[in-house]
Amino acid sequence: MPSVPSSASTPSIPPNASTPSIPPNASTASIPPNASTASITANASTGSASPRPLRGRGAGGEGAPLGEFTLIERFFARSTPERQGIGDDCALIDIGSQTLALTSDMLLEGVHFLPDVNPEDLGHKSLAVNLSDLAAAGARPRCFLLDLALPRADAAWLEAFSRGMFALAQAHECALIGGDTTRAPSGPDSAGLLTIAITAIGEVDRDRYRGRSGARPGDDIWITGSTGEAALALAYRRGQIDIPEPARSACILRMDRPTPRIALGRALVGTATASIDVSDGLLGDLGHILERSSVGAVLYWPAIPRAAVFGGLPLAMQYACVLAGGDDYELVFTAPASSRATLQQLVGDGVGVSRIGQIESAPGLRLRDGEHHGAPLIEVNLQSFDHFVAPSPGPLGQASADVAALEPGADGHGDKTGVGP
Ligand code: ADP
Ligand code: MG
Repeated sequence: MPSVPSSASTPSIPPNASTPSIPPNASTASIPPNASTASITANASTGSASPRPLRGRGAGGEGAPLGEFTLIERFFARSTPERQGIGDDCALIDIGSQTLALTSDMLLEGVHFLPDVNPEDLGHKSLAVNLSDLAAAGARPRCFLLDLALPRADAAWLEAFSRGMFALAQAHECALIGGDTTRAPSGPDSAGLLTIAITAIGEVDRDRYRGRSGARPGDDIWITGSTGEAALALAYRRGQIDIPEPARSACILRMDRPTPRIALGRALVGTATASIDVSDGLLGDLGHILERSSVGAVLYWPAIPRAAVFGGLPLAMQYACVLAGGDDYELVFTAPASSRATLQQLVGDGVGVSRIGQIESAPGLRLRDGEHHGAPLIEVNLQSFDHFVAPSPGPLGQASADVAALEPGADGHGDKTGVGP
């Protein structure tokens, strides 16, 4: 998952982008038809048959920084019976006739949340990001383990944190079955930093399990709900943008209390060929599917759903939030075109699904300003979050700096860089 900045003061919207303010009654986004040229270059993959490993930006060659996913692949991915797990949202283990899906996510103070975060929200989110990985795998949540490194034992804080966490756990009948609790060590000048790690366990049907490697050329690409609002909330918290109510509260809710798409994830079992949850940005996370499935894709920008609030924002910021903003926890998935009619009817977790593109055999990821083949290609230069390649500005900061070149009047379009793993 992406990080929030440890200080809310670091500005990363380019200096010539004045603080945008969204008109209160901003209507549905209208995208200029000439939304510009060229293509996204994403993790060019070659045509090997079996699931390919995850591979990151930051190849870690001589002197180059090691990216998050390159690091995992190089030092931790080994051939084991569970090898299928590394690179997917969950690992699978067979126990008798049952198959369990396991996933773990960590939240660190100053990296994933600010010190003044509402503890009830944090309790919810700590579990939600883990359940989201179960949703991506189509798993039914069963139970979870909770590890805490606490700077202090604060009863009021713990009461609120546990309330937020258990409300979500109960909603999904997911029991807390164990964990570990320690004091976070403090330094001479600083209090210890809070760390929360959760391991969630779910059940899957192994024969119908989907990971990230099953996408095939011709499959449609779909997304649940919409992306971008969490990134907009982050920009608001950092003082980069003003959002009027009620959109502001809606965006903040998306960031602080994400909804794991468990019901939709379950409903897609047997239909979706591959899926992933969007924790680090739509392009980057779709890039993991492309990489693991050894395919490419085209996305149709006008078909990508976004909240009405984006209608009042510059196109560059729409791209940054919707395509590269993290923390949305929607599911991106692929499915054969024969499932279209069924999927169009699908509703769950309070949202529906939208068809946003197609898997192609040509490697790379292309963004078009429409579905038809003649629709112009759009060039964006966005990076999804990587803990080691883009550590400081946070997902929107990185993206907004990069897409500045697309602002009307700015020169050029910047270099094409890879997005995704
Ligand atoms: P997600 O965003 O779905 O939580 P990550 O991006 O954190 O997944 O990780 C990508 C893949 O790498 C996952 O399959 C995860 O289980 C695996 N992974 C991450 N860190 C490690 C590690 N230290 N050792 C082994 N596998 C890891
Ligand atoms: Mg995930």
